[in-house]
Amino acid sequence: ARFKEMSEGMDHVTVKIGEEIAHPGVKMSGCHGFCEMGPLVRIEPYNYLYLKVKLEDCEEIFEKTILRGEPVERLMYHDDHKVYETQEEIPFYAEQTRLVLKNCGHIDAEHIEEAIAAGAYESFEKAVFEMTPEAVIKSVLDSGLRGRGGAGFPTGRKWSQVAGQKEKVRYVVCNGDEGDPGAFMDRSVMEGDPHRMIEGMMIAAYAVQAHEGYIYVRAEYPLAVRRLKIAIEQAEEKGLLGDNILGTGFSFHLHINRGAGAFVCGEGSALTASIEGKRGMPRVKPPRTVEQGLWAKPTVLNNVETYANVPMIIKNGADWFCRIGTKESPGTKAFALTGNVKNTGLIEVPMGITLREIIFDIGGGIKNNKKFKAVQIGGPSGGCLVESQLDSKMDFDSLTKIGAMIGSGGLVVMDEDTCMVEVARFFMNFTQRESCGKCVPCREGTKRMLEILERIVEGNGKLSDLDELEELADMIESTALCGLGKSAPKPVISTIHAFREEYEEHILKKH
Ligand code: SF4
Repeated sequence: ARFKEMSEGMDHVTVKIGEEIAHPGVKMSGCHGFCEMGPLVRIEPYNYLYLKVKLEDCEEIFEKTILRGEPVERLMYHDDHKVYETQEEIPFYAEQTRLVLKNCGHIDAEHIEEAIAAGAYESFEKAVFEMTPEAVIKSVLDSGLRGRGGAGFPTGRKWSQVAGQKEKVRYVVCNGDEGDPGAFMDRSVMEGDPHRMIEGMMIAAYAVQAHEGYIYVRAEYPLAVRRLKIAIEQAEEKGLLGDNILGTGFSFHLHINRGAGAFVCGEGSALTASIEGKRGMPRVKPPRTVEQGLWAKPTVLNNVETYANVPMIIKNGADWFCRIGTKESPGTKAFALTGNVKNTGLIEVPMGITLREIIFDIGGGIKNNKKFKAVQIGGPSGGCLVESQLDSKMDFDSLTKIGAMIGSGGLVVMDEDTCMVEVARFFMNFTQRESCGKCVPCREGTKRMLEILERIVEGNGKLSDLDELEELADMIESTALCGLGKSAPKPVISTIHAFREEYEEHILKKH
């Protein structure tokens, strides 16, 4: 409801400033990330950022700022000490390292000229004119870039495996099927800076010598679909996509496929099956996607954020990228920070930052001065982190060590009033509904786990239910076919471990 209210609010504000006041410089950009404070208006060249702008504020913005260059202080971010005029000064932004999201909120994504002015396609030109495909792969390998979709597999290794296949027909596919509850990182890139991601795909295509690419994007993201379509058309008009790109002889055609909302289609083999027009269901591996992916041809499959990192690596070099983040997880990660935190929004931080820094420095702490209780990381496949883990580093390996995973980057913060059994039931209900039903452990196992959780929540549980939940979780984790099933029990197991007394309280209350 808040999102609907904000986007409608933004539409009204844009129309008011743009049409009624008839100022030609008014533009609708992509997401600025500070969702809590939307609708946002930034005024160039002063770099003033106005928050929670309403229709009735537009006249004042026009009179004071647009005509006279003066700030409207009441619309600026402020605390007890000062008024923060520019976006960069606001603590929510000051603690971030916005590289992938750099242009989001700054350019009009529907005009390729703005993206080009911000440097789009320079890296692709560098790749095709100054580098061999092997040198491009080496650069991505040396950068240590790992897939931002969840598993953290080294991107360069994936590309070199595709490039090394005997089969010469290859594909490049982008996974934009972001389905985790509370996650909207990829959506923001597709809506706010689609050319960055397209350029990353073009560089991948050149590296593995693929000539066709597909973007698989959720149909629930109509604005992303529209902006991607516009971006592709405009890139084609400029000779940046299609046959004989920039006279190099290299051709690459890009297509959009809309997913129909199945969470499981975020899994690689289900996604490629869906593009082929089949039912989106994971298949047994091997063969892996790099060997036999789309139409059984070698396929590079990365997610939106991963591709969006590539142009920067080609432009600035692998060493530059390695200096950001940690040794094993270089670069930044975008997270969707939601739940009971003061500053909800989309953030981008260096890998290795602690959870405490994210929640308390960037997020501003817990809403209504409540106590922090837990954070669900990585959606239903992630896990629940508690207070004693607040100083955990947010990178692939550190999180794996404590039984969690970055996943796609959703962070749902919960306060002291949250019932963790309800949280476990919510996520199990989600994965159970999204189970494709192909394999028994997931299809039946998640159903049994959900039944037990519902029993406990309704006050009809028994203490032996907890053992049964753990047994079922163990069975599903070790025998389910794909990642959706294997990780489905995580939220239940992590909450049983950290909050067993809450489960017991639910069970014993009825006696
Ligand atoms: Fe389908 Fe679940 Fe089996 Fe994956 S684990 S193939 S989602 S039934």
